[in-house]
Amino acid sequence: MSSPRVAGPHELEETRRRLDGRHPRAAIRWALHRFAPERTAVVTSLQADGMAVVDMALRVDRNVRIVTIDTGRLPEETHAYLDQIRAHYGRGIEVLLPDAAAVGRHVSEHGVNAFYGSVERRLDCCHLRNVEPLERLLAGLDCWLTGLRRGHSARRGSTPIVEIDAAHGGIVKVNPVADWDEPDVRAHLAAAGVPLHPLYERGYPSIGCAPCTRPVAAGDDPRSGRWWWERGVEKECGIHATPALPPERRTA
Ligand code: SF4
Repeated sequence: MSSPRVAGPHELEETRRRLDGRHPRAAIRWALHRFAPERTAVVTSLQADGMAVVDMALRVDRNVRIVTIDTGRLPEETHAYLDQIRAHYGRGIEVLLPDAAAVGRHVSEHGVNAFYGSVERRLDCCHLRNVEPLERLLAGLDCWLTGLRRGHSARRGSTPIVEIDAAHGGIVKVNPVADWDEPDVRAHLAAAGVPLHPLYERGYPSIGCAPCTRPVAAGDDPRSGRWWWERGVEKECGIHATPALPPERRTA
């Protein structure tokens, strides 16, 4: 009998128990064998953590779907790296684009760099350019795999290896490297010979859109270079969590 498309809480609980403490490969193998290939994807922003998942997933299934989002504001280095990764693996990577008409309306009304003006405008931009394309993808999936790690931030500190993604229709979200730390990720990529995004060596520990990301000083919070002008707002774009607004901005 084939497995049901959607995993229930009981199956998830049992799976999580089996996978906790195991090598990330175990979670990746489970996901890629449990769900239909066309309804399963690794979604990555091409940062090191996601690339470790990509690399391990390709060793399980050479044809696994790998998806990234081009927000239209990515640094040139990310485009160059995307080509480098295509050449490295000798295969394509799906690139999602934002809805051009919706972005056009936003830019026409608020300006091309409206995100510097307020947290609300920044979240609008992140929604249009990041969240909406992802939601379009996830609406056709039963399972997605990410490079989330607990060490990224306090908010991500309890990230499970496997979870039900209630915000995206109850599909399964697998975070194989959740309990790895950065040296684990770097060691995997080095051993596998996977090239790193070129901005790491220029002081960017976390890499997003060009106008919203800058290098940080050694020892600073790795995510402090993201939306660096904002104060009291979580460093999230809305893909993995909706940032809580500071109290003075809450309307209800
Ligand atoms: Fe827009 Fe900046 Fe968010 Fe990119 S990171 S989607 S440019 S607000």
